[in-house]
Amino acid sequence: MLFFKDVAETFLKIESKSGRLEMTDILAQLFKKTDVKEIDKLIYLVQGILAPPYDGIELGLGEQFAIRAIASAAGYDRSKVESNYKKSGDLGLTIEELFAKKKQQSLSSSDMDVLYIYDSFVKMAKTSGQGSQELKIKYLTELLNNSSPTEARFIIRFVTGRLRLGVGDPTILDALSFSRTGDKSLREELERAYNVCSDLGYVAKTFFESPEKIVEFKVQPFKPLQPALAERLSTPKEIIEKLGSCSIEFKFDGFRLQCHKKGNEVELYSRKLEKMTHMFPDVVDAIKKLKVKEIIFEGEALAFNEPQKRYFSFQQTMHRRRKHGIDAASKELPLNIFVFDILYLNGKDLTAQPYSSRRKTLESIFPEEILKLSEKIDVKNEKEIEKLFKQSISEGLEGIMAKDLASPYTAGKRKFAWIKLKKSYGKAVDTIDGVIVGYYLGKGARVEFEFGGLLLAVYNEDNARLETVARIGSGYTEEEMKELQEMLEEIKTTAPPDKLDYKVEPDFWVQPKYVVEVAFDDITLSPMHTCGVKDDRGYALRFPRMQKMRGDKSISEITTTREVVDLYEKQMK
Ligand code: ATP
Repeated sequence: MLFFKDVAETFLKIESKSGRLEMTDILAQLFKKTDVKEIDKLIYLVQGILAPPYDGIELGLGEQFAIRAIASAAGYDRSKVESNYKKSGDLGLTIEELFAKKKQQSLSSSDMDVLYIYDSFVKMAKTSGQGSQELKIKYLTELLNNSSPTEARFIIRFVTGRLRLGVGDPTILDALSFSRTGDKSLREELERAYNVCSDLGYVAKTFFESPEKIVEFKVQPFKPLQPALAERLSTPKEIIEKLGSCSIEFKFDGFRLQCHKKGNEVELYSRKLEKMTHMFPDVVDAIKKLKVKEIIFEGEALAFNEPQKRYFSFQQTMHRRRKHGIDAASKELPLNIFVFDILYLNGKDLTAQPYSSRRKTLESIFPEEILKLSEKIDVKNEKEIEKLFKQSISEGLEGIMAKDLASPYTAGKRKFAWIKLKKSYGKAVDTIDGVIVGYYLGKGARVEFEFGGLLLAVYNEDNARLETVARIGSGYTEEEMKELQEMLEEIKTTAPPDKLDYKVEPDFWVQPKYVVEVAFDDITLSPMHTCGVKDDRGYALRFPRMQKMRGDKSISEITTTREVVDLYEKQMK
Protein backbone atom coordinates (compact mmCIF):
# COMPACT_ATOMS: atom_id res chain seq x y z
CA MET A 1 0.00 0.00 0.00
CA LEU A 2 1.36 3.41 -0.98
CA PHE A 3 0.88 6.16 1.59
CA PHE A 4 0.11 9.69 0.45
CA LYS A 5 2.77 11.03 2.77
CA ASP A 6 5.38 9.20 0.65
CA VAL A 7 3.87 10.74 -2.45
CA ALA A 8 3.95 14.22 -0.91
CA GLU A 9 7.59 13.72 0.15
CA THR A 10 8.43 12.66 -3.38
CA PHE A 11 6.68 15.74 -4.81
CA LEU A 12 8.73 17.88 -2.47
CA LYS A 13 11.94 16.27 -3.69
CA ILE A 14 10.92 16.69 -7.31
CA GLU A 15 10.23 20.37 -6.77
CA SER A 16 13.73 20.99 -5.54
CA LYS A 17 15.27 19.39 -8.65
CA SER A 18 15.28 20.80 -12.09
CA GLY A 19 17.11 18.12 -14.04
CA ARG A 20 15.03 15.63 -15.95
CA LEU A 21 17.32 12.72 -15.06
CA GLU A 22 17.02 13.37 -11.34
CA MET A 23 13.24 13.70 -11.58
CA THR A 24 13.05 10.44 -13.55
CA ASP A 25 15.08 8.66 -10.90
CA ILE A 26 12.98 9.98 -8.00
CA LEU A 27 9.74 9.03 -9.77
CA ALA A 28 11.02 5.57 -10.71
CA GLN A 29 11.80 4.92 -7.02
CA LEU A 30 8.22 5.83 -6.13
CA PHE A 31 6.78 3.65 -8.92
CA LYS A 32 8.80 0.69 -7.61
CA LYS A 33 6.94 0.96 -4.32
CA THR A 34 3.57 1.13 -6.06
CA ASP A 35 1.15 -1.73 -6.47
CA VAL A 36 -0.54 -2.60 -9.78
CA LYS A 37 -3.89 -1.58 -8.22
CA GLU A 38 -2.57 1.88 -7.40
CA ILE A 39 -0.32 2.79 -10.28
CA ASP A 40 -2.97 4.30 -12.61
CA LYS A 41 -4.30 6.56 -9.82
CA LEU A 42 -0.80 7.62 -8.84
CA ILE A 43 0.02 8.52 -12.44
CA TYR A 44 -3.07 10.74 -12.67
CA LEU A 45 -2.11 12.48 -9.43
CA VAL A 46 1.38 13.18 -10.79
CA GLN A 47 -0.20 14.56 -13.98
CA GLY A 48 -2.46 16.78 -11.84
CA ILE A 49 -5.64 15.22 -13.25
CA LEU A 50 -8.25 12.68 -12.17
CA ALA A 51 -8.75 10.97 -15.51
CA PRO A 52 -7.86 11.47 -19.17
CA PRO A 53 -9.55 14.55 -20.66
CA TYR A 54 -12.24 12.58 -22.48
CA ASP A 55 -13.62 11.22 -19.21
CA GLY A 56 -14.49 14.76 -18.22
CA ILE A 57 -13.84 14.33 -14.47
CA GLU A 58 -12.40 17.64 -13.33
CA LEU A 59 -12.00 19.24 -9.95
CA GLY A 60 -10.88 22.81 -10.58
CA LEU A 61 -12.12 24.21 -7.27
CA GLY A 62 -12.28 28.01 -7.30
CA GLU A 63 -9.77 29.93 -5.20
CA GLN A 64 -12.43 31.37 -2.93
CA PHE A 65 -13.77 27.94 -2.02
CA ALA A 66 -10.29 26.66 -1.32
CA ILE A 67 -9.66 29.67 0.91
CA ARG A 68 -12.78 28.84 2.91
CA ALA A 69 -11.68 25.23 3.40
CA ILE A 70 -8.21 26.36 4.44
CA ALA A 71 -9.61 28.84 6.96
CA SER A 72 -11.85 26.23 8.44
CA ALA A 73 -9.19 23.49 8.62
CA ALA A 74 -6.42 25.74 9.91
CA GLY A 75 -8.69 27.57 12.32
CA TYR A 76 -7.96 31.07 11.03
CA ASP A 77 -10.11 33.89 9.68
CA ARG A 78 -10.55 34.01 5.97
CA SER A 79 -8.88 37.42 5.92
CA LYS A 80 -5.73 35.97 7.48
CA VAL A 81 -5.63 33.24 4.81
CA GLU A 82 -6.16 35.84 2.10
CA SER A 83 -3.43 38.14 3.32
CA ASN A 84 -0.97 35.26 3.54
CA TYR A 85 -1.97 34.18 0.05
CA LYS A 86 -1.40 37.69 -1.32
CA LYS A 87 2.17 37.46 -0.06
CA SER A 88 2.98 33.93 -1.18
CA GLY A 89 0.90 33.82 -4.39
CA ASP A 90 0.44 30.11 -3.78
CA LEU A 91 -2.39 28.64 -1.74
CA GLY A 92 -0.35 25.46 -1.23
CA LEU A 93 2.37 27.39 0.57
CA THR A 94 -0.24 29.37 2.49
CA ILE A 95 -1.87 26.30 4.00
CA GLU A 96 1.47 24.67 4.71
CA GLU A 97 2.66 27.74 6.60
CA LEU A 98 -0.59 28.24 8.50
CA PHE A 99 -0.79 24.56 9.36
CA ALA A 100 2.79 24.40 10.54
CA LYS A 101 2.25 27.41 12.83
CA LYS A 102 -1.16 26.68 14.09
CA LYS A 103 -1.90 23.04 13.83
CA GLN A 104 -2.53 22.05 17.39
CA GLN A 105 -1.33 18.59 18.26
CA SER A 106 -4.99 17.69 18.73
CA LEU A 107 -5.49 17.93 15.01
CA SER A 108 -3.51 14.78 14.52
CA SER A 109 -2.91 13.57 11.03
CA SER A 110 -3.52 9.96 10.20
CA ASP A 111 -1.99 7.94 7.41
CA MET A 112 -3.98 8.23 4.22
CA ASP A 113 -3.13 6.02 1.29
CA VAL A 114 -3.13 7.01 -2.36
CA LEU A 115 -6.39 5.24 -3.22
CA TYR A 116 -8.17 7.02 -0.36
CA ILE A 117 -6.92 10.42 -1.52
CA TYR A 118 -7.78 9.70 -5.13
CA ASP A 119 -11.26 8.44 -4.29
CA SER A 120 -11.90 11.50 -2.12
CA PHE A 121 -10.94 13.79 -5.02
CA VAL A 122 -13.24 11.89 -7.37
CA LYS A 123 -16.07 12.10 -4.84
CA MET A 124 -15.54 15.88 -4.70
CA ALA A 125 -15.42 16.18 -8.48
CA LYS A 126 -18.62 14.23 -8.95
CA THR A 127 -20.63 16.19 -6.40
CA SER A 128 -23.06 18.28 -8.40
CA GLY A 129 -26.32 20.15 -8.13
CA GLN A 130 -27.61 22.47 -5.44
CA GLY A 131 -25.37 22.86 -2.44
CA SER A 132 -22.56 20.97 -4.13
CA GLN A 133 -19.97 23.69 -3.49
CA GLU A 134 -20.67 23.55 0.25
CA LEU A 135 -20.32 19.80 0.17
CA LYS A 136 -17.04 20.02 -1.70
CA ILE A 137 -15.69 22.42 0.92
CA LYS A 138 -16.78 19.99 3.61
CA TYR A 139 -15.01 17.04 1.95
CA LEU A 140 -11.92 19.12 1.42
CA THR A 141 -11.87 20.34 5.01
CA GLU A 142 -12.09 16.74 6.21
CA LEU A 143 -9.14 15.76 4.04
CA LEU A 144 -7.12 18.71 5.25
CA ASN A 145 -7.93 17.92 8.87
CA ASN A 146 -6.25 14.57 8.34
CA SER A 147 -3.19 15.98 6.61
CA SER A 148 0.29 17.00 7.61
CA PRO A 149 1.41 20.47 6.43
CA THR A 150 3.29 18.97 3.45
CA GLU A 151 0.36 16.77 2.43
CA ALA A 152 -1.96 19.78 2.70
CA ARG A 153 0.31 21.82 0.42
CA PHE A 154 -0.11 19.33 -2.41
CA ILE A 155 -3.78 18.60 -1.77
CA ILE A 156 -4.63 22.29 -2.08
CA ARG A 157 -2.54 22.72 -5.20
CA PHE A 158 -4.16 19.65 -6.75
CA VAL A 159 -7.78 20.62 -6.09
CA THR A 160 -7.25 24.16 -7.39
CA GLY A 161 -5.63 22.81 -10.56
CA ARG A 162 -2.20 24.20 -9.71
CA LEU A 163 -0.11 21.16 -8.92
CA ARG A 164 2.36 21.76 -11.78
CA LEU A 165 5.26 19.69 -10.58
CA GLY A 166 7.14 20.40 -13.78
CA VAL A 167 7.12 16.69 -14.57
CA GLY A 168 6.07 16.22 -18.17
CA ASP A 169 4.58 13.07 -19.68
CA PRO A 170 7.94 12.15 -21.30
CA THR A 171 9.55 12.04 -17.83
CA ILE A 172 6.75 9.82 -16.51
CA LEU A 173 7.25 7.46 -19.47
CA ASP A 174 10.99 7.30 -18.80
CA ALA A 175 10.38 6.62 -15.11
CA LEU A 176 7.93 3.80 -15.89
CA SER A 177 10.50 2.08 -18.08
CA PHE A 178 13.20 2.54 -15.41
CA SER A 179 10.99 1.22 -12.64
CA ARG A 180 10.63 -2.18 -14.31
CA THR A 181 13.73 -2.62 -16.48
CA GLY A 182 16.30 -0.34 -14.85
CA ASP A 183 16.80 1.45 -18.17
CA LYS A 184 14.92 3.16 -20.99
CA SER A 185 14.59 0.03 -23.10
CA LEU A 186 10.78 0.01 -23.12
CA ARG A 187 10.40 3.77 -23.44
CA GLU A 188 9.51 3.75 -27.14
CA GLU A 189 6.83 1.08 -26.74
CA LEU A 190 5.35 2.90 -23.75
CA GLU A 191 5.22 6.13 -25.70
CA ARG A 192 3.52 4.50 -28.65
CA ALA A 193 0.93 2.93 -26.35
CA TYR A 194 0.29 6.34 -24.80
CA ASN A 195 -0.04 8.01 -28.20
CA VAL A 196 -2.67 5.53 -29.34
CA CYS A 197 -4.85 5.59 -26.20
CA SER A 198 -4.10 8.98 -24.58
CA ASP A 199 -4.48 7.53 -21.09
CA LEU A 200 -1.19 7.38 -19.21
CA GLY A 201 -2.79 5.77 -16.14
CA TYR A 202 -4.15 2.95 -18.30
CA VAL A 203 -0.78 2.49 -20.02
CA ALA A 204 0.99 2.27 -16.66
CA LYS A 205 -1.52 -0.24 -15.30
CA THR A 206 -1.24 -2.42 -18.43
CA PHE A 207 2.55 -2.20 -18.17
CA PHE A 208 2.52 -3.22 -14.51
CA GLU A 209 0.29 -6.18 -15.36
CA SER A 210 2.83 -7.32 -17.95
CA PRO A 211 5.42 -5.50 -20.08
CA GLU A 212 4.54 -7.73 -23.07
CA LYS A 213 1.10 -6.20 -23.15
CA ILE A 214 2.74 -2.86 -23.89
CA VAL A 215 4.81 -4.25 -26.72
CA GLU A 216 1.62 -5.62 -28.30
CA PHE A 217 -0.55 -2.64 -27.39
CA LYS A 218 -3.33 -1.99 -29.93
CA VAL A 219 -5.69 0.84 -30.79
CA GLN A 220 -9.14 0.29 -29.29
CA PRO A 221 -12.55 1.94 -29.56
CA PHE A 222 -13.35 4.63 -26.98
CA LYS A 223 -9.70 5.26 -26.22
CA PRO A 224 -8.96 8.18 -28.57
CA LEU A 225 -5.58 8.46 -30.28
CA GLN A 226 -3.44 11.57 -30.02
CA PRO A 227 -3.97 13.23 -33.40
CA ALA A 228 -1.24 13.09 -36.03
CA LEU A 229 -0.07 16.62 -36.86
CA ALA A 230 1.25 18.27 -39.98
CA GLU A 231 4.53 20.05 -40.65
CA ARG A 232 4.41 23.24 -42.68
CA LEU A 233 6.34 24.10 -45.84
CA SER A 234 6.12 27.30 -47.90
CA THR A 235 6.08 26.20 -51.54
CA PRO A 236 4.98 23.30 -53.78
CA LYS A 237 8.65 22.91 -54.76
CA GLU A 238 9.66 22.21 -51.17
CA ILE A 239 6.86 19.64 -50.89
CA ILE A 240 8.00 17.72 -53.97
CA GLU A 241 11.60 17.85 -52.78
CA LYS A 242 10.54 16.38 -49.47
CA LEU A 243 7.98 13.76 -50.56
CA GLY A 244 8.38 13.12 -54.28
CA SER A 245 5.12 11.75 -55.71
CA CYS A 246 2.42 12.19 -53.09
CA SER A 247 -1.29 12.76 -52.55
CA ILE A 248 -2.95 16.13 -52.16
CA GLU A 249 -6.13 16.77 -50.19
CA PHE A 250 -7.84 20.08 -49.57
CA LYS A 251 -7.35 21.59 -46.14
CA PHE A 252 -10.76 22.32 -44.68
CA ASP A 253 -10.94 25.00 -42.03
CA GLY A 254 -13.37 23.51 -39.55
CA PHE A 255 -12.69 21.44 -36.46
CA ARG A 256 -11.27 17.99 -36.26
CA LEU A 257 -13.36 15.07 -35.04
CA GLN A 258 -12.19 11.58 -34.16
CA CYS A 259 -15.15 9.22 -34.47
CA HIS A 260 -15.40 5.87 -32.69
CA LYS A 261 -18.08 3.22 -33.21
CA LYS A 262 -18.54 -0.18 -31.63
CA GLY A 263 -21.84 -1.89 -32.33
CA ASN A 264 -24.49 0.72 -31.75
CA GLU A 265 -22.32 2.84 -29.49
CA VAL A 266 -20.69 5.98 -30.87
CA GLU A 267 -18.36 8.58 -29.35
CA LEU A 268 -16.87 11.71 -30.90
CA TYR A 269 -13.69 13.38 -29.68
CA SER A 270 -12.26 16.81 -30.34
CA ARG A 271 -8.67 17.50 -31.29
CA LYS A 272 -8.01 18.07 -27.57
CA LEU A 273 -9.69 14.69 -27.00
CA GLU A 274 -12.69 15.99 -25.09
CA LYS A 275 -15.85 13.99 -25.62
CA MET A 276 -18.13 15.92 -28.00
CA THR A 277 -20.72 13.22 -28.69
CA HIS A 278 -23.75 14.99 -27.20
CA MET A 279 -23.09 18.11 -29.28
CA PHE A 280 -23.52 16.42 -32.65
CA PRO A 281 -26.56 14.12 -32.75
CA ASP A 282 -26.69 14.49 -36.54
CA VAL A 283 -23.16 13.10 -36.90
CA VAL A 284 -23.79 10.33 -34.38
CA ASP A 285 -26.84 9.16 -36.35
CA ALA A 286 -24.92 9.05 -39.60
CA ILE A 287 -22.13 7.02 -37.99
CA LYS A 288 -24.57 4.54 -36.47
CA LYS A 289 -25.84 3.80 -39.96
CA LEU A 290 -22.41 2.83 -41.28
CA LYS A 291 -22.34 -0.82 -42.27
CA VAL A 292 -19.31 -1.70 -40.16
CA LYS A 293 -19.21 -3.19 -36.67
CA GLU A 294 -16.27 -1.29 -35.29
CA ILE A 295 -14.42 1.70 -36.69
CA ILE A 296 -12.25 4.66 -35.73
CA PHE A 297 -11.88 7.40 -38.33
CA GLU A 298 -11.01 11.07 -38.49
CA GLY A 299 -12.36 13.99 -40.42
CA GLU A 300 -12.79 17.74 -40.46
CA ALA A 301 -16.27 19.00 -39.51
CA LEU A 302 -17.58 21.97 -41.44
CA ALA A 303 -21.02 23.58 -41.38
CA PHE A 304 -22.74 23.76 -44.76
CA ASN A 305 -25.10 26.47 -45.96
CA GLU A 306 -27.55 24.45 -48.04
CA PRO A 307 -29.49 27.31 -49.72
CA GLN A 308 -26.30 29.10 -50.76
CA LYS A 309 -24.38 25.90 -51.41
CA ARG A 310 -21.28 27.10 -49.60
CA TYR A 311 -19.42 26.33 -46.42
CA PHE A 312 -19.73 28.50 -43.37
CA SER A 313 -16.57 30.08 -41.95
CA PHE A 314 -14.55 28.57 -39.13
CA GLN A 315 -16.11 31.04 -36.68
CA GLN A 316 -19.64 30.11 -37.73
CA THR A 317 -18.84 26.40 -37.72
CA MET A 318 -17.49 26.75 -34.18
CA HIS A 319 -20.99 27.73 -33.03
CA ARG A 320 -21.79 24.04 -33.28
CA ARG A 321 -19.45 23.39 -30.36
CA ARG A 322 -21.99 24.31 -27.75
CA LYS A 323 -23.63 22.85 -24.68
CA HIS A 324 -27.15 24.23 -25.14
CA GLY A 325 -29.56 24.68 -28.01
CA ILE A 326 -28.05 21.69 -29.76
CA ASP A 327 -31.08 20.69 -31.83
CA ALA A 328 -31.68 24.21 -33.14
CA ALA A 329 -28.00 24.62 -33.97
CA SER A 330 -27.88 21.33 -35.84
CA LYS A 331 -30.75 22.52 -38.06
CA GLU A 332 -29.28 25.97 -38.56
CA LEU A 333 -25.72 24.82 -39.16
CA PRO A 334 -25.81 21.24 -40.49
CA LEU A 335 -22.39 19.62 -40.41
CA ASN A 336 -20.53 17.68 -43.03
CA ILE A 337 -17.54 15.62 -42.05
CA PHE A 338 -14.73 15.37 -44.59
CA VAL A 339 -13.28 12.03 -43.65
CA PHE A 340 -9.52 11.91 -44.21
CA ASP A 341 -8.14 8.92 -42.31
CA ILE A 342 -9.05 5.55 -40.83
CA LEU A 343 -7.22 4.10 -37.84
CA TYR A 344 -9.08 0.96 -36.87
CA LEU A 345 -11.61 -1.38 -38.45
CA ASN A 346 -13.39 -4.43 -37.00
CA GLY A 347 -10.76 -5.41 -34.46
CA LYS A 348 -7.80 -4.46 -36.64
CA ASP A 349 -5.34 -1.67 -35.79
CA LEU A 350 -4.57 0.10 -39.09
CA THR A 351 -2.15 2.74 -37.80
CA ALA A 352 0.98 0.92 -38.93
CA GLN A 353 -0.27 0.56 -42.52
CA PRO A 354 0.92 3.08 -45.11
CA TYR A 355 -1.42 5.95 -45.97
CA SER A 356 -2.03 4.49 -49.45
CA SER A 357 -3.61 1.31 -48.01
CA ARG A 358 -5.52 3.13 -45.25
CA ARG A 359 -6.91 5.37 -47.95
CA LYS A 360 -8.13 2.36 -50.01
CA THR A 361 -9.97 1.02 -46.97
CA LEU A 362 -11.43 4.48 -46.33
CA GLU A 363 -12.75 4.68 -49.88
CA SER A 364 -14.50 1.32 -49.49
CA ILE A 365 -16.59 2.73 -46.60
CA PHE A 366 -17.17 6.41 -47.43
CA PRO A 367 -18.88 8.57 -48.61
CA GLU A 368 -22.08 7.93 -46.74
CA GLU A 369 -24.69 10.64 -46.06
CA ILE A 370 -23.02 13.62 -44.40
CA LEU A 371 -19.79 11.66 -44.00
CA LYS A 372 -18.10 12.81 -47.19
CA LEU A 373 -14.75 11.61 -48.36
CA SER A 374 -12.00 14.21 -48.39
CA GLU A 375 -11.06 14.16 -52.07
CA LYS A 376 -7.53 13.00 -52.88
CA ILE A 377 -5.46 13.65 -55.99
CA ASP A 378 -2.13 11.94 -56.68
CA VAL A 379 0.55 14.30 -57.95
CA LYS A 380 4.06 13.95 -59.36
CA ASN A 381 5.34 17.51 -59.74
CA GLU A 382 5.13 20.98 -58.28
CA LYS A 383 2.99 22.36 -61.11
CA GLU A 384 0.17 19.97 -60.25
CA ILE A 385 0.43 21.00 -56.60
CA GLU A 386 0.41 24.70 -57.51
CA LYS A 387 -2.77 24.18 -59.54
CA LEU A 388 -4.56 22.40 -56.70
CA PHE A 389 -3.40 25.00 -54.21
CA LYS A 390 -4.86 27.80 -56.37
CA GLN A 391 -8.07 25.84 -56.79
CA SER A 392 -8.39 25.40 -53.02
CA ILE A 393 -7.96 29.13 -52.42
CA SER A 394 -10.45 30.06 -55.13
CA GLU A 395 -12.99 27.75 -53.47
CA GLY A 396 -12.53 29.63 -50.22
CA LEU A 397 -10.57 26.86 -48.49
CA GLU A 398 -7.50 27.26 -46.34
CA GLY A 399 -4.94 25.54 -48.56
CA ILE A 400 -3.85 21.97 -49.11
CA MET A 401 -2.45 19.00 -47.21
CA ALA A 402 0.19 16.88 -48.93
CA LYS A 403 0.37 13.29 -47.71
CA ASP A 404 3.22 10.84 -47.90
CA LEU A 405 1.89 7.64 -49.50
CA ALA A 406 4.19 5.36 -47.50
CA SER A 407 3.72 6.84 -44.02
CA PRO A 408 1.96 5.11 -41.14
CA TYR A 409 -0.43 7.16 -38.98
CA THR A 410 1.91 9.17 -36.74
CA ALA A 411 -0.24 9.45 -33.60
CA GLY A 412 0.73 12.37 -31.38
CA LYS A 413 3.58 13.51 -33.62
CA ARG A 414 4.18 16.42 -35.96
CA LYS A 415 5.86 14.72 -38.90
CA PHE A 416 6.41 15.20 -42.62
CA ALA A 417 3.88 12.40 -43.21
CA TRP A 418 1.48 15.34 -43.63
CA ILE A 419 2.56 18.73 -44.92
CA LYS A 420 0.32 21.78 -44.91
CA LEU A 421 0.55 24.62 -47.39
CA LYS A 422 -1.68 27.51 -46.39
CA LYS A 423 -2.66 30.71 -48.07
CA SER A 424 -1.05 33.00 -45.52
CA TYR A 425 2.41 31.45 -45.89
CA GLY A 426 5.04 33.62 -47.51
CA LYS A 427 3.01 36.78 -47.03
CA ALA A 428 3.59 39.52 -44.49
CA VAL A 429 0.77 38.23 -42.30
CA ASP A 430 1.67 35.35 -40.07
CA THR A 431 0.01 33.96 -36.97
CA ILE A 432 1.01 32.36 -33.71
CA ASP A 433 -1.01 30.58 -31.04
CA GLY A 434 -0.57 31.88 -27.50
CA VAL A 435 -2.24 31.45 -24.15
CA ILE A 436 -4.16 34.23 -22.41
CA VAL A 437 -2.55 35.09 -19.06
CA GLY A 438 -4.40 38.30 -18.26
CA TYR A 439 -6.80 40.94 -19.55
CA TYR A 440 -7.35 44.68 -19.50
CA LEU A 441 -10.44 46.71 -18.72
CA GLY A 442 -12.15 48.57 -21.51
CA LYS A 443 -11.69 52.26 -22.18
CA GLY A 444 -13.85 54.59 -24.26
CA ALA A 445 -16.39 52.69 -26.33
CA ARG A 446 -15.30 49.45 -24.72
CA VAL A 447 -16.16 50.39 -21.16
CA GLU A 448 -19.49 48.63 -21.43
CA PHE A 449 -17.77 45.31 -22.17
CA GLU A 450 -15.37 45.65 -19.26
CA PHE A 451 -12.87 44.31 -21.72
CA GLY A 452 -10.02 46.13 -23.37
CA GLY A 453 -7.60 43.48 -24.55
CA LEU A 454 -5.50 40.47 -23.69
CA LEU A 455 -2.02 39.76 -22.42
CA LEU A 456 -0.65 36.81 -24.33
CA ALA A 457 2.18 34.39 -23.57
CA VAL A 458 4.12 31.71 -25.42
CA TYR A 459 6.01 28.75 -23.97
CA ASN A 460 9.76 28.59 -23.47
CA GLU A 461 10.75 24.93 -23.71
CA ASP A 462 14.26 25.55 -22.40
CA ASN A 463 13.17 26.59 -18.92
CA ALA A 464 9.51 25.41 -18.96
CA ARG A 465 8.20 28.94 -18.37
CA LEU A 466 5.57 31.11 -19.97
CA GLU A 467 6.77 34.41 -21.44
CA THR A 468 4.67 37.35 -22.60
CA VAL A 469 4.81 38.27 -26.27
CA ALA A 470 1.95 40.71 -26.94
CA ARG A 471 -0.80 42.87 -25.64
CA ILE A 472 -3.65 42.45 -28.08
CA GLY A 473 -6.00 45.39 -28.25
CA SER A 474 -7.69 44.90 -31.61
CA GLY A 475 -9.32 42.42 -33.93
CA TYR A 476 -12.28 41.57 -31.67
CA THR A 477 -15.91 41.56 -32.70
CA GLU A 478 -18.32 42.88 -30.06
CA GLU A 479 -19.57 39.36 -29.54
CA GLU A 480 -16.04 38.11 -28.95
CA MET A 481 -15.34 40.84 -26.40
CA LYS A 482 -18.44 39.91 -24.47
CA GLU A 483 -17.66 36.23 -24.64
CA LEU A 484 -14.04 36.75 -23.61
CA GLN A 485 -15.00 38.95 -20.70
CA GLU A 486 -17.39 36.30 -19.40
CA MET A 487 -14.97 33.43 -19.88
CA LEU A 488 -12.06 35.27 -18.28
CA GLU A 489 -14.05 36.66 -15.37
CA GLU A 490 -14.57 33.06 -14.24
CA ILE A 491 -10.87 32.23 -14.12
CA LYS A 492 -9.53 35.47 -12.63
CA THR A 493 -6.78 35.00 -10.06
CA THR A 494 -5.25 37.25 -7.44
CA ALA A 495 -1.70 36.29 -8.26
CA PRO A 496 0.02 35.98 -11.65
CA PRO A 497 0.12 32.47 -13.13
CA ASP A 498 2.87 30.17 -11.85
CA LYS A 499 5.91 30.02 -14.04
CA LEU A 500 5.10 33.21 -15.93
CA ASP A 501 7.81 35.78 -16.59
CA TYR A 502 6.35 39.24 -17.15
CA LYS A 503 7.16 42.92 -17.06
CA VAL A 504 3.79 44.50 -17.85
CA GLU A 505 0.82 43.78 -15.61
CA PRO A 506 -2.75 43.42 -16.87
CA ASP A 507 -5.76 44.65 -14.90
CA PHE A 508 -6.57 41.03 -14.08
CA TRP A 509 -4.52 37.87 -14.12
CA VAL A 510 -6.19 34.65 -15.25
CA GLN A 511 -5.35 30.95 -15.14
CA PRO A 512 -3.53 30.09 -18.36
CA LYS A 513 -6.25 28.08 -20.04
CA TYR A 514 -7.49 29.59 -23.31
CA VAL A 515 -5.54 29.50 -26.54
CA VAL A 516 -5.95 32.21 -29.19
CA GLU A 517 -4.57 32.66 -32.66
CA VAL A 518 -3.09 36.10 -33.26
CA ALA A 519 -2.06 37.77 -36.51
CA PHE A 520 0.74 40.33 -36.58
CA ASP A 521 2.82 42.30 -39.04
CA ASP A 522 6.25 41.35 -37.82
CA ILE A 523 8.33 40.67 -34.74
CA THR A 524 10.27 43.37 -32.93
CA LEU A 525 12.35 43.63 -29.79
CA SER A 526 10.60 45.29 -26.88
CA PRO A 527 11.45 46.17 -23.27
CA MET A 528 7.83 45.33 -22.33
CA HIS A 529 7.88 41.60 -23.05
CA THR A 530 9.80 38.61 -21.78
CA CYS A 531 9.73 36.20 -24.73
CA GLY A 532 13.34 35.05 -25.25
CA VAL A 533 14.52 38.11 -23.33
CA LYS A 534 18.13 39.23 -23.86
CA ASP A 535 19.74 42.46 -22.64
CA ASP A 536 16.42 43.48 -21.15
CA ARG A 537 14.50 43.24 -24.41
CA GLY A 538 12.19 40.42 -25.43
CA TYR A 539 10.66 39.41 -28.74
CA ALA A 540 7.21 40.90 -29.27
CA LEU A 541 4.52 40.95 -31.94
CA ARG A 542 4.07 44.20 -33.85
CA PHE A 543 0.44 45.21 -34.50
CA PRO A 544 -1.00 42.06 -32.97
CA ARG A 545 -4.66 41.44 -33.66
CA MET A 546 -7.02 38.74 -32.56
CA GLN A 547 -7.63 36.19 -35.28
CA LYS A 548 -9.71 33.55 -33.55
CA MET A 549 -10.21 31.61 -30.34
CA ARG A 550 -8.65 28.17 -30.61
CA GLY A 551 -11.02 26.23 -28.36
CA ASP A 552 -9.80 23.15 -30.20
CA LYS A 553 -6.18 23.57 -29.07
CA SER A 554 -4.73 22.85 -25.65
CA ILE A 555 -2.15 24.93 -23.85
CA SER A 556 0.50 22.29 -24.47
CA GLU A 557 0.26 23.15 -28.17
CA ILE A 558 0.98 26.87 -28.10
CA THR A 559 3.80 28.45 -30.06
CA THR A 560 7.19 28.18 -28.40
CA THR A 561 9.71 30.94 -27.76
CA ARG A 562 12.08 29.18 -30.15
CA GLU A 563 9.47 29.37 -32.92
CA VAL A 564 9.04 33.11 -32.31
CA VAL A 565 12.81 33.60 -32.48
CA ASP A 566 12.92 31.55 -35.72
CA LEU A 567 10.22 33.75 -37.23
CA TYR A 568 12.23 36.83 -36.24
CA GLU A 569 15.39 35.48 -37.80
CA LYS A 570 13.58 34.50 -41.01
CA GLN A 571 12.14 37.98 -41.20
CA MET A 572 15.62 39.51 -40.78
CA LYS A 573 16.84 37.52 -43.78
P1 ATP B 1 -3.46 25.22 -38.30
O1 ATP B 1 -3.22 26.07 -37.09
O2 ATP B 1 -2.48 25.41 -39.39
O3 ATP B 1 -4.86 25.10 -38.72
P2 ATP B 1 -3.18 23.18 -36.54
O4 ATP B 1 -1.97 23.58 -35.77
O5 ATP B 1 -4.53 23.39 -35.97
O6 ATP B 1 -3.08 23.80 -37.94
P3 ATP B 1 -2.09 21.02 -37.89
O7 ATP B 1 -1.98 19.63 -37.45
O8 ATP B 1 -0.84 21.78 -38.02
O9 ATP B 1 -3.10 21.68 -36.90
O10 ATP B 1 -2.86 21.09 -39.29
C1 ATP B 1 -3.65 20.02 -39.62
C2 ATP B 1 -5.09 20.25 -39.26
O11 ATP B 1 -5.80 20.54 -40.44
C3 ATP B 1 -5.69 19.00 -38.75
O12 ATP B 1 -5.65 18.99 -37.34
C4 ATP B 1 -7.10 18.99 -39.25
O13 ATP B 1 -7.95 19.53 -38.25
C5 ATP B 1 -7.09 19.96 -40.39
N1 ATP B 1 -7.40 19.38 -41.71
C6 ATP B 1 -8.21 19.93 -42.63
N2 ATP B 1 -8.28 19.20 -43.74
C7 ATP B 1 -7.50 18.12 -43.55
C8 ATP B 1 -7.16 16.99 -44.36
N3 ATP B 1 -7.63 16.82 -45.59
N4 ATP B 1 -6.31 16.08 -43.83
C9 ATP B 1 -5.81 16.23 -42.57
N5 ATP B 1 -6.10 17.28 -41.78
C10 ATP B 1 -6.94 18.22 -42.25
